[in-house]
Order: sequence, then structure tokens, then C-alpha cells
Amino acid sequence: MEDTDVVLGIGSNLGGRLFNVKSAINTLSTAFNVDVLKVSSFYETDPVTVNGAEGYVGEEFVNCCVLLKTKLEPNVVLGMCFGIEASLGRRRQYKSAPRTVDLDIIFYGDMVIENSFLKVPHLGTLERDFVLAPLGDICPDYRFMDIDFSKEYENIDWNAIRRLEEDF
Ligand code: ADP
Ligand code: MG
Repeated sequence: MEDTDVVLGIGSNLGGRLFNVKSAINTLSTAFNVDVLKVSSFYETDPVTVNGAEGYVGEEFVNCCVLLKTKLEPNVVLGMCFGIEASLGRRRQYKSAPRTVDLDIIFYGDMVIENSFLKVPHLGTLERDFVLAPLGDICPDYRFMDIDFSKEYENIDWNAIRRLEEDF
């Protein structure tokens, strides 16, 4: 497998949120065949409402994005994400429940994947400010591969998302 640029979105809205997100990044950086190339700023974001009604419940999120280079296949990256979530005590109680940590594959190179485990680019991602804002940090020309998200970036509602002082 060739080296591929991969973007992960990481979020936490339970427990030591910043600690959880940083721990996930630390674990990623020790993983075999994974290089963490860039880490965005951290953002505090209001829980997003899904379809105007049911949404993520609980506290505000801390979110960031990381850019990796990896030889791991997409399903192996997903397995690694699940492993990191489990190691940080994530329990899946119900959909959208508060989570100690959530790792999502936003982009895997320019690959389009659509099966029951994996949808990449991650569905709805580029409409979500908590992904767009950190994505802008690690892709400052507002492109990843051939995907131009500059328009979406301009529409970020900065009232609902705040950049934290602290970096990784
Ligand atoms: P969410 O991230 O949507 O809040 P979960 O983390 O519980 O919820 O993920 C639910 C399912 O989403 C997982 O079982 C996983 O198989 C699936 N999934 C589909 N596409 C992706 C992706 N790009 N990255 C991570 N998980 C994904
Ligand atoms: Mg997830």
C-alpha cells in the first residue's frame, strides 16, 4: 500500500475533553505506519443539531482535525480509530450520545468509499463547521486533493465555534 494523505476529525464532549483529544493524537503518533503531519487548532463548538431536531446531546465539543500519512488501508485506519476510542473509554450507548472521543475519517486520499462501515469523504462533513474550521488550518488553500471547500469555509458561523488558545 502506498503512503496516502488522510484527514481525521476528532471530537470529545465528555470528561476531560482536551485531554481526550490530545491523548488520541498522541496514540496516533505512536502507531506503526502512521505519521502525524499536521494538527489543527482546537475548537470549542456547540453540539450540532441534526435535521433541526435530534442532535448531539450534552456538553460543548472540543474538535480538531489531523493530517496523517499512512500505508494502512481505510478499514485498518477505521479499526485503529475504534481502538483509540475504546482505549479512552468510549461506550456506544445510543446514537449521538456524549462521547469521550470520536475519530472519523474525513478524507482518505481522493478515494470515495461507500459501504456499510465506511463512508468517505465522510457524509455531511463539509457542511459542518466543527470540521470545516479545523480543516482550514491543515489545508490552508481550502482544498484537499481535488475537493474545494473554500465556499463552505466562508459560510462558517463563527458565533457557534471558538478557537482555543491552547495548541497540541
Ligand atoms: P458518529 O461518528 O456518526 O457520531 P459513531 O462514531 O458511533 O457515530 O460511528 C457510527 C458508525 O459510522 C461506525 O460504526 C462506522 O462504521 C461508521 N462510519 C461510516 N463512515 C465513517 C467514517 N468515514 N469514519 C468513521 N466512522 C464511519
Ligand atoms: Mg464516529
